[in-house]
Amino acid sequence: MQYYSLHNKAPKVSFSEAVIKGLAPDKGLYFPESITPLPKSFFDNIENLDTIEIGFQTIKQFVGHEIPENELRDILKDVLSFDFPVIDITKNIGTLELFHGPTMAFKDVGARFMARCLEYFNKDNDDKVTVLVATSGDTGGAVAQGFLGVKGVDVVILYPSGKVSDIQERQLTTLGQNITALEVDGVFDDCQDMVKKAFLDESITNHMKLTSANSINIARWLPQLFYFVFAYKQLKNKGKEIVFSVPSGNFGNICAGIVAHKLGLPVKHFVAATNVNDTVVRYMKTSNYEPKPSKATISNAMDVGNPSNFIRIQQLFDNKFESLKSNFSAYSFDDVTTRDAMKEVYNKSKYIADPHGAVGYLGLKEYDLQENEYGVFLETAHPVKFMDIVEKTLNVKIPIPPQIQKVMNKQKVSIKTNDYKKLKEFLLK
Ligand SMILES: *Cc1c(COP(=O)(O)O)cnc(C)c1O
Repeated sequence: MQYYSLHNKAPKVSFSEAVIKGLAPDKGLYFPESITPLPKSFFDNIENLDTIEIGFQTIKQFVGHEIPENELRDILKDVLSFDFPVIDITKNIGTLELFHGPTMAFKDVGARFMARCLEYFNKDNDDKVTVLVATSGDTGGAVAQGFLGVKGVDVVILYPSGKVSDIQERQLTTLGQNITALEVDGVFDDCQDMVKKAFLDESITNHMKLTSANSINIARWLPQLFYFVFAYKQLKNKGKEIVFSVPSGNFGNICAGIVAHKLGLPVKHFVAATNVNDTVVRYMKTSNYEPKPSKATISNAMDVGNPSNFIRIQQLFDNKFESLKSNFSAYSFDDVTTRDAMKEVYNKSKYIADPHGAVGYLGLKEYDLQENEYGVFLETAHPVKFMDIVEKTLNVKIPIPPQIQKVMNKQKVSIKTNDYKKLKEFLLK
């Protein structure tokens, strides 16, 4: 499988090159040259396939021959070692829980898959790759955990001091080994700017291989397509058409769902549910794409003003607005409405949704499900990750799960960083 840059000004590359580079040299996102639907028998017999086999069958064309089949299966065994249950909320709405991984965020699967791929590519050489990532919260923890102890990979995480939750900070500052946390005196955008600057700085990139671990990287983005197939397997016997509502920030997750649809997954409609960062929602109304600076909300993992994967979604619909529109809708909700939705879900079914899941739930309400449809919203983080908001809104106490308990007593280690010069010194030392 070859990947091309969506800016069309860079050479095509193989899977491994695309993973190691992250972004194409022309700054475009990599995109698979072809997407071949799976045979109908795959979906007809899906109830007989386990998680690993589903993962293998759906990802193998994207990996190609660079990772042998038995190795790829081993990687998937490692990555997909937890559950992805669909829980019924009402008669026609369920939630797909994606938070049963080690950091209780849905980014675990992508981060772990990317880490295992890089490890495989590095196994026979002494090359080092440095993964540089800026986080506003959940990405950092998932990436740190996913890459912990992976040979040939150093991870450097930049996070804004005092702007991530206590649990999130512990998840990225207590691991040690090949993981370093740089605590930046600033906001998330400052971290992001420093990372972007480093990728463009030849005095750094001539000396080391730098890659990114956010959803622009195909190895973080594509394995998210598994979720939608796992949900289908569990819902098939309901005999209804499935509508997915995906709480969206950078639109990587929903974009992977659309790739699953291209592989032949029966899906009636995709709903992108956002907070007030509504660039795509406005685009769907006007067909004008006008990014805006991000605004802070209670669903902060989706505070994105210029979603990087939307260009991939447009490509999946051949850049035809009408065809996008008939398969995809986008709705935006403010924090007051989100809190009300958390209460509504809790009162109806005693289910505790986190603010991101609640935005997903609202997406289904807005879509207005028909009798023959079943709506699934993706629950992208465990409510404990947003403990303060959830406990205050619902007046409940959330028990701390063992994965989180584990990091609560560990010592935080971070390096204070206040400007780009400090980052550069650190990388080149
Ligand atoms: C990252 C994240 C999202 C947004 O996912 P995208 O793929 O960027 O759209 C939603 N919810 C949570 C909890 C996240 O961490």
